[in-house]
Amino acid sequence: MTTGKTSRVALVTGGTRGIGEAICKLLVRQGYQVVTTFRNADRKPQALEWQNRLAAESLEIDLVQMDVADTQSCEAAANELLGRYGRLDVLVNNAGITRDSVMKKMPVEAWKEVIHTNLDSVFNVTRCFLDTLIAQNYGRVINISSINAQKGQFGQVNYSAAKAGIHGFTKALAQETARKGITVNTVSPGYVETDMVLAIDEKIREQIKTQIPVGRFGQPDEIARVVAFLAEEQSSFITGADLSINGGMFMH
Ligand code: NDP
Repeated sequence: MTTGKTSRVALVTGGTRGIGEAICKLLVRQGYQVVTTFRNADRKPQALEWQNRLAAESLEIDLVQMDVADTQSCEAAANELLGRYGRLDVLVNNAGITRDSVMKKMPVEAWKEVIHTNLDSVFNVTRCFLDTLIAQNYGRVINISSINAQKGQFGQVNYSAAKAGIHGFTKALAQETARKGITVNTVSPGYVETDMVLAIDEKIREQIKTQIPVGRFGQPDEIARVVAFLAEEQSSFITGADLSINGGMFMH
């Protein structure tokens, strides 16, 4: 993906595994200069190993250290990225966590951690690039939400609330930036086979599968292709939208 001589630059948060990794791989194959994140110094060796593994497949992906829950860490990472490339065209707010428990037993920390990582993060990261996107008169912001924001989920008041917050954020920012060549959308995956879903107890997982009309979990690539579609220049009339990819599990 090029703009004259310069590659379009894409940042995918939390892209070293799962859905984020699939997004990174697809965007790099499409010609974007892709940057992803590792959360702290402890995870750097693992991230470098991942980067080398992908480079061996001719997929060159750049890394910055960024804890999406931490404003200062986001600012430092954004400065690093903009220092290297001077622009950002596509921002995929993908990093997320779960800390499940019924509300009666939910520790305050589990609430705060999920809100910080899944909702504050979207503000923390996007704010660092907003001036750049506006100055470019171009940008694609794609926020990864969840089916569990749309329908609520037993045992996930924190996660459902954080992800639902992303929809409000998306629609408000889409209005603020619509005249600036910037689109802001959410993608809401259903259950996708990644570490996050594999962490669910197997019995519960099998029960969940019976509730998915297509009869299987989604694959990370199936989310990535929708993100890549929203990232296209030609997707300029789609803003403030929410695209569901859930095998028919929730229709609205
Ligand atoms: P994974 O658990 O496989 O990966 C999550 C990624 O986010 C990891 O790279 C992780 O980094 C990163 N991350 C977590 N916290 C932080 C942080 N504070 N700072 C920086 N990076 C962080 O998740 P999935 O790939 O399954 O999920 C990706 C997104 O899709 C999430 O937002 C999730 O909520 C959403 N989603 C997933 C669904 C699914 O079924 N899998 C369904 C609906 C939505 P590290 O390796 O350091 O932990």
